[in-house]
Amino acid sequence: MEPRSSLPLRTLILGGTTEAANLARALAHDARALAHEPTIAATLSLAGRTTAPILPPIPHRIGGFGGIAGLVAYLRTTETAAIIDATHPFAAQISDHACQAAALTATPILRIDRPAWRAEPGDQWTHVTTMTQAAQALGPTPRRVFLTIGQQDLAPFRAAPWHDYIIRSVDPPAAALCPPNAELITARGPFTVAGETALLQTHRIDIIVTKNAGAAATSAKLTAARTLGIPIIMIARPSLPPCPTVPDADGALDWLKRQVITAR
Ligand code: NAP
Repeated sequence: MEPRSSLPLRTLILGGTTEAANLARALAHDARALAHEPTIAATLSLAGRTTAPILPPIPHRIGGFGGIAGLVAYLRTTETAAIIDATHPFAAQISDHACQAAALTATPILRIDRPAWRAEPGDQWTHVTTMTQAAQALGPTPRRVFLTIGQQDLAPFRAAPWHDYIIRSVDPPAAALCPPNAELITARGPFTVAGETALLQTHRIDIIVTKNAGAAATSAKLTAARTLGIPIIMIARPSLPPCPTVPDADGALDWLKRQVITAR
């Protein structure tokens, strides 16, 4: 049997973000460069939230694990030796499951925690912590609302049916989740400032609702809103379990390389 130290580091990347895709690309690049001695064997896991996900250039799987127990079983069956949690900052359940499963299996874990957006001079942000608060913060006067919160969390806006909503998401949301008076735009970032400015003007948007995702790919709307004087209701991130973090894919790659050295 091959000595354990010469085996590649089996790694699970929990993905669904640009950072996960960047890490997968970097690992695929390293694997090509080290064709005879790959040191990291990673699998990227996607939740399966979009119908046509952009697939990574490394092995991948799609769909839930079946809770913490299912994730623990997966880690044991695949002899995973490292976890990178590169999920969306609002995907709190899978981050919690990953931390708990890592503890139960003594698997080292690192989270890519991209910095949150911060208001700049000229921004008119109202900070809220839930979707219900965001819907209430729109107020009693009918407004034209640009909802860029994905497709899963629309239901609270049904309680404020007097507004007109422009909803943008990667896939069209289920009609039953949408408020009335909703126009749907399906689009996948990255978005440009020019494009976002045109969209806000064309749709005569009065106010934007967004999650504080912190992603560069979707930050152009913040700049466009600042320039046009459009207020934003900014939904704060959920709290996540404590865990070592890095801000980007480069940091995760460095950490994985250190794990390889430690395992030898
Ligand atoms: P979640 O609430 O944290 O996770 C719910 C369940 O989905 C998990 O318990 C897990 O199922 C499965 N799951 C999530 N991420 C997974 C992954 N990478 N691989 C395999 N299974 C995964 O996450 P969510 O329901 O996807 O989304 C929550 C929030 O994050 C929403 O506000 C959404 O808009 C935002 N978001 C998510 C993604 C994404 O790719 N997931 C992307 C953009 C935004 P099991 O318990 O069965 O393992």
